Amino acid sequence: ALTAGIVGLPNVGKSTLFNAITKAGALAANYPFATIDPNVGIVEVPDARLDKLTELVEPKKTVATSFEFTDIAGIVQGASQGEGLGNKFLSHIREVDAITQVVRCFEDENITHVAGKVDPLSDIEVINLELILADLESVDKRYAKVSKLAKQKDKESMEEAAVLEKVKEAFANEMPARSVDLSDEEKKIIKGLSLLTLKPALYVANVAEDEVADADNNEYVQQVRDYAAKEGAEVIVVCAKIEEEIAQLDDDEKAMFLEELGIEESGLDKLIKAAYSLLGLATYFTAGVQEVRAWTFRKGMKAPQCAGVIHSDFERGFIRAETISFEDLVAYGSKPAAKEAGRLRLEGKEYVVQDGDVMEFLFNV
Ligand code: GDP
Repeated sequence: ALTAGIVGLPNVGKSTLFNAITKAGALAANYPFATIDPNVGIVEVPDARLDKLTELVEPKKTVATSFEFTDIAGIVQGASQGEGLGNKFLSHIREVDAITQVVRCFEDENITHVAGKVDPLSDIEVINLELILADLESVDKRYAKVSKLAKQKDKESMEEAAVLEKVKEAFANEMPARSVDLSDEEKKIIKGLSLLTLKPALYVANVAEDEVADADNNEYVQQVRDYAAKEGAEVIVVCAKIEEEIAQLDDDEKAMFLEELGIEESGLDKLIKAAYSLLGLATYFTAGVQEVRAWTFRKGMKAPQCAGVIHSDFERGFIRAETISFEDLVAYGSKPAAKEAGRLRLEGKEYVVQDGDVMEFLFNV
């Protein structure tokens, strides 16, 4: 399964946020607790479409889909030259599929800041610089090899050297590899290097309790947004402390609490959605009277592979998929009505499943 790693300097609120994630996940009843690594938090993906389908179909049971966050421990500063703990930090990051960087945007004199004062930009730079330095080492090594062959006019090496040069230029400007506008082809050429700074990333601005409703006027948040914009990354504002409290409430209590705070959606819910999409994940639904359920697939997956998410037999014996878009199902009110209107499609093996498709798979056993 794909996972988003949580990183950040000490005392920025990582553990608090991760606690909120595990508590929220503990409320989700549909996964086996026993097998979970303590550094992994499973979250349900909030999806209003699932509630709507439940209303329409009135199934016995509704099941949301879920994915994982991984808490990345270890020492950040000096990691790229590092031994031991620092190296561990980098190797943990290598294993995740996207990076969620928590940045301290709250003032609190009782909580020590590692750099002496709240300075989100410098915090981000400390972490990103370590990752860039680690990547630079891999790129330099590779470049030394490839550029020799490129000089001998080896075509593949010339192409690779050109991509590496672009990435090196970004590093020289202390920018991550993901800020470089690379084509899919170019990304493929350097895929083998598994660059840390090529992983998709987002920033979590952790603000104080009394700032969360008015985050647009928070200067620290603004700084993080400006920085993130340069690499095309998203910023999610949360108050980790509040999220930790919210995570223990049921849906009704949560709605009331959020209204009191003057916010529409919890920061954690926003973060979950953003990370899900950052990982390139999307959702299709099955909607039977027994169970309405959301399923996760990777964008671009075809119908048989998506069927395989439910069960490998479904993929092996795939014949076709009866498909209706969520919007059509809601507009026509039921599957027969949608069918009557010609909105039920029979999709075959080559169909690329779309986010929001409601599907029923037909398969040979
Ligand atoms: P970590 O070292 O990054 O994991 O940081 P922690 O989650 O342990 O948080 C460090 C301290 O900051 C703890 O005392 C938290 O209670 C506090 N803290 C975390 N988030 C917030 C927040 O949003 N507001 C305030 N006031 N304190 C927070």
